[in-house]
Amino acid sequence: MSTLVTSSLAAWSGVEGRPLVIAGPCSAESEEQLAETAKRLRGARVDYFRAGVWKARTRPEDFEGIGDAALPWLVRVGHQLGMKTATEVATAGHVEVALKHGVDLLWIGARTTVNPFSVQEIANALRGVTVPVLVKNPTSPDLGLWIGALERVNRAGVRKLGVIHRGFSVAGNKRYRNAPMWELAIEFRRMHPDVPMITDPSHMTGRRDMILDVAQQAMDLGLDGLMIETHPNPDHAWSDAAQQVTPERLTEIIALLKVRRETSADAAYVASLEVLRDRIDHLDHDLLDLLAKRMRVIEEIGEYKRANNVATLQVARWTALLEDRLGRAVELGLSPEYARALYEIIHRESVKRQSEVINEEPAESAP
Ligand code: PEP
Ligand code: MN
Repeated sequence: MSTLVTSSLAAWSGVEGRPLVIAGPCSAESEEQLAETAKRLRGARVDYFRAGVWKARTRPEDFEGIGDAALPWLVRVGHQLGMKTATEVATAGHVEVALKHGVDLLWIGARTTVNPFSVQEIANALRGVTVPVLVKNPTSPDLGLWIGALERVNRAGVRKLGVIHRGFSVAGNKRYRNAPMWELAIEFRRMHPDVPMITDPSHMTGRRDMILDVAQQAMDLGLDGLMIETHPNPDHAWSDAAQQVTPERLTEIIALLKVRRETSADAAYVASLEVLRDRIDHLDHDLLDLLAKRMRVIEEIGEYKRANNVATLQVARWTALLEDRLGRAVELGLSPEYARALYEIIHRESVKRQSEVINEEPAESAP
């Protein structure tokens, strides 16, 4: 059950039927840099002009942001070009000074969302505030922490709320800077369907050549908007150079996106979808029946192993089984990653069930 009381994206941003776009540089570097970015963004439909003022950086020698002095630049440039402005806040002091200068939207960064003490301090500073507040996902793939941060901000009275999905730090991820783990975004949506969700392909990919593709994936999932870092001279940006795009490229990306409708009332579409979904329902029931049958056989094997005092895991059998199933899955047009993930779950549960069986007392044989 959703414990959040929020107003809709359309109500707080006026945006409906197209993605909300937040664009601008990772960091404010100078008033000229902000002005040039904003001017060159005039051809794109950008709803909020972003710039980082305080930067939480991994290493102390990295550029940590201009600080308070950049706020008047951001707000002036926004006013001159008729754009609303947005920045990241990481402390109660940031909230106070950003609002004093008239920033229109605040977001809480991934490195802040991980810390409930910091989030609570920010939430306290947001009491009575009317600007929208967006909460980035925490760096770790922890939905509870993400939702907890939203609840803190919401309980402080902020109703104009949203989340930014920027991906997660996880071991073994090579393709992305921060693994998207779309399944977590989908689970978040399931739990809180009314909370607007914006995707940040810049921090997710870390590479400008992948941004269009990830932005399109967000549109394909029907997500509500995009935050894309935009810099007049990306290669020379003082932070996140590899992932920023020029304002012209941002304009092009927005134009290239295929925005999907939430649904369609077309009668033929509704009828066909119903037939196809019915087929899926039947197939899923068959799948579950088969999995249950498979488990009964696993239990039988467990009983033989118990009778013969044999271990549950036979590595050679598991290796051969996995190889066979992956090969077959690929022949059937399924991806090997999918088949592997599926079989890892099936095998884990089978081993677990077998260890339960081999530890059970054997059933008394009838006298
Ligand atoms: C940012 O948006 O500039 C930023 C620092 O992002 P994140 O909090 O996602 O790392
Ligand atoms: Mn950045």
